[in-house]
Amino acid sequence: MKTFNSMFEEEPDVVDLTFPALDPDEVVYEPRSSRLLVRGLGENDMDEDDEDCESSARLLGMSFMNRSSAHRSSSFPYTRQAPPRSCSRPSARTTVVCVLFLVIVASMTMVLYFLPGCTFTKAGCRKTNKTTPFEPVYPLSTNGKLFPWAQFRLPRSVRPVNYDLTLNPDLNNMTFTGRTVITMSVLHNTKIIVLHSAHLNITKATFKVGLEGDVTVLEYQTRQQIAVQLSEEMKAGQSCVLTLDYSASLSHTYDGFYNSSYIDKEGNKRVLAATQFEPLSARKAFPCFDEPAFKATFLIKISRKSNYTTLSNMPQVKSTPLPNGLVQDEFEKTSVNMSTYLVAFIVADFTPISKNVSETLVSVYSVPEKKEHTDYALDTASKLLEFYNSFFEINYPLKKLDLVAIPDFLAGAMENWGLITFRETTLLVGNQSSPLEKQLVASVIAHELAHQWFGNLVTMSWWNDLWLNEGFATYMQYITSYVCFQGNLFLAVRFRALDKDALNSSHAVSTEVNNPEQVEEMFDSVSYEKGASILMMLNTWLPGKQQFRKGIIQYLKQFSGLNTDTDDLWNSLTQVSAQHHNVSEMMRSWTSQKGFPLVTVSRQGGQVTLTQEHFLLTSDKTQQLTVFCTLFSLWNIPVTYVTDNCSLGPECIQMFNLKTKSGTLELPESVKWLKLNYRNTGFYIVHYGDEGWAALKDALSSNVQVLTQEDRASLIHNIFALSRLGRVSFYQVLNLLKYMSNETESCPVTEALLQLNVIYRLLDKRQEDSLHYILYRFGSLMDNQTWGEEESVSKQELRSALLGSACSLNQENCIQQAKALFKHYDESNGTSRIPGDLQQVVFTVAAQSNEDWLTLLHMYQTVTYDAEKRKMLRGLASTQDARRIVWILKAGLRGDIIQTQELPLVISTVCNGFAGYLFAWDFIQENWDRLIEKFPIGSYAIQTIIKSATSQFSTQAHLDRVQGFFSSLKERGSQMRSVQEALETIRLNQRWMDKNLPTLQKWL
Ligand SMILES: [Zn+2]
Repeated sequence: MKTFNSMFEEEPDVVDLTFPALDPDEVVYEPRSSRLLVRGLGENDMDEDDEDCESSARLLGMSFMNRSSAHRSSSFPYTRQAPPRSCSRPSARTTVVCVLFLVIVASMTMVLYFLPGCTFTKAGCRKTNKTTPFEPVYPLSTNGKLFPWAQFRLPRSVRPVNYDLTLNPDLNNMTFTGRTVITMSVLHNTKIIVLHSAHLNITKATFKVGLEGDVTVLEYQTRQQIAVQLSEEMKAGQSCVLTLDYSASLSHTYDGFYNSSYIDKEGNKRVLAATQFEPLSARKAFPCFDEPAFKATFLIKISRKSNYTTLSNMPQVKSTPLPNGLVQDEFEKTSVNMSTYLVAFIVADFTPISKNVSETLVSVYSVPEKKEHTDYALDTASKLLEFYNSFFEINYPLKKLDLVAIPDFLAGAMENWGLITFRETTLLVGNQSSPLEKQLVASVIAHELAHQWFGNLVTMSWWNDLWLNEGFATYMQYITSYVCFQGNLFLAVRFRALDKDALNSSHAVSTEVNNPEQVEEMFDSVSYEKGASILMMLNTWLPGKQQFRKGIIQYLKQFSGLNTDTDDLWNSLTQVSAQHHNVSEMMRSWTSQKGFPLVTVSRQGGQVTLTQEHFLLTSDKTQQLTVFCTLFSLWNIPVTYVTDNCSLGPECIQMFNLKTKSGTLELPESVKWLKLNYRNTGFYIVHYGDEGWAALKDALSSNVQVLTQEDRASLIHNIFALSRLGRVSFYQVLNLLKYMSNETESCPVTEALLQLNVIYRLLDKRQEDSLHYILYRFGSLMDNQTWGEEESVSKQELRSALLGSACSLNQENCIQQAKALFKHYDESNGTSRIPGDLQQVVFTVAAQSNEDWLTLLHMYQTVTYDAEKRKMLRGLASTQDARRIVWILKAGLRGDIIQTQELPLVISTVCNGFAGYLFAWDFIQENWDRLIEKFPIGSYAIQTIIKSATSQFSTQAHLDRVQGFFSSLKERGSQMRSVQEALETIRLNQRWMDKNLPTLQKWL
């Protein structure tokens, strides 16, 4: 799946990044909504600090840490207590005291643990336990009987082999009926069959093993599970068939089998039904074993009215008229075993264009009036399909591949096998659209096509390793888009992944997942962008150009049709390694612990010492255990570096493997400076010390070209991050930025503007004077930008960032040019077009005037280009008029004029402005229940909403309010990781302001 609010749709302008921040805790955590049902078998007794500590300890072979930390949390059943306080950088003495303390606690808890007759549960040692400590506590079914299964994950005693699905959707009444026939094979002797079903009203159930007969189905709604209890035990090796008839409503949210609609060009409302099953919603359309490891084949039949068409994963084989006047379409049985989350079907009146590529018929579907926007997608998908067929050395296994633009769709796109669904914005693009807009479409197609192998053919066993799907697809997305467009978006994406991973609320790439909210939360920048970043680092480290690719091919061939975990990937890559590089050893340190290292350089003549530590932004003294654990965090870092002797080409790269706390390398004494992390392909931040930074700044001041633009951007990113960490002063940051007056390339400029913009927005919310420093440094560069068509993607990126900042700071020339372009566009009656990369700045300027805002709203309702429409919406939402802000928020929730899929974007845009950020916060609090009805708790959309609404706060009063609101939510979202992230961010903002505001006031 492609989540939607990535850097991509932020497009090139510099709006929208949170100030990376701080540190959790003091949140009182209610128990997760799913209660602990098996005594002694905690669902997930450890809190995150423990996990982090555990993974660090495991790396060091310190198994004793596990028990002590697991214990600590088990004695505090219903509050995830704040870890003990400590200094952020403990001295050696503190460390010794900490160790002693922990050893004592560990010993005492072990003694307690082994006291006879006492079983520790999440609720502590509450009563003596005379029975087995693992006796399950079964929940009650809806009919009052005991439900025979007490775990979140399904039992492994039977596995589905084939599903025969018949679906009868009724688009008038928004309901459907269905019949699911599941053929299963018994793996272990059992008397129960447990599977998933959510919001389905099961009307009849029959079961056949030998003889066929009716059975009773028990349902436990909390876990969305149903169970069939058999009177006789089935034996391993037997096969059996369960048939379930059911009825349900089409979902009015964005998951399951849901209804969507659009207004056609005659102004009529057209309804359709589509599916979105990843991660946990196939169970809302048919009863199934809804976990990725239960792969099976599917035969699907759907009935429709004659003026509609249906689509599914496989080609249609026949259409049969039904007695009730409807038509039933039947699709070929899937030729491959498939996870349930990849099943898809659509009933709509879309029109296709098609083309044969190798053995596959590729088609792009859209609503009829947007057919002329599908050419680019068809062409791109065809080229990419050929590219992947040869890149992976495995041909795409299905006979057809459909790409469908759905009018109302929450994710960016979804990789259903053979039937990829998209937002209209991520698939449809006009011939005259700008290269930047085409790049977005191409990259999303590249992402979803990569999934047809990485994810669909080889699938993660469980959601804890979601990154195997998403990290890889994200990596391929950026690699192909760099090849086709030479854009440099991946660099900025890696910077943002670092910013998020620097927080204590972050998590390991592979992380335990034990309830639905946690599954949803895996769809975040750690799985996607950090996953992609560490793959890039590995690819750069492996010697030989094709070695990474060979390892990937080996992995895909070895596990084709199967499920895997992270170690399987590393093992495949190790196997093909010519120099016997131990990929597993290196990469485990990047996937099993959260965060990333800070590498500090200290130099004495020719001797350079590199030291690593966990880069952890935390301003809170309460994080004693966290900080203690970070002392043990070690990464196996493939450090690259260049020096002033040779610094630009790949031939200049020198390597150093830093596996221990510190290491030393030798340089000629004559070397003036060194720059680590060549082109920022490694996932770490570097601190050069006062002298090192000064030397780099001097080098850049005399000649910008001594480093690649990626290296320059990485220096800028790193120094801002270090200032947030408190390792360099903001004065040093500004000092480095002095060289910017000579800068002309997009990467360093966009990164600097983005960082400054974050600070500017925080200052703005405190009604501090604008950061006119921006204009001072970038003034001439801003003035040099043109307003006509521009072909180069990197120049477009540069131009839209610079002009976006100039206009947001009310630079007169910028405002006048933007207004003139808007006027010309309005008067041309659709015959002229604003260059794609300038549309955002033009619409945003226009929206600030009363009259033009109304004009823009009218345009928004009539424009057919989706990319343009979205930029108009951001313009509309950037208004500073309070009544309009409230109107647009409400309209986004209603979903009539503004589709609800756009609400996260509306909220994030409103929050950037001074007038809107408090309204948006009130709106979220007032409408929380409706928001989580539309966007599941933990989902990417909710993560975005929380982040946008809170990242602008920097005062204690706001912190208290945010904390108060989220803790009042209890099971309605208080446990989300993004809540912790929000609190950390506000605290870090607060700390940063306290520390730097006086300096800034003096300086600026
Ligand atoms: Zn994806």
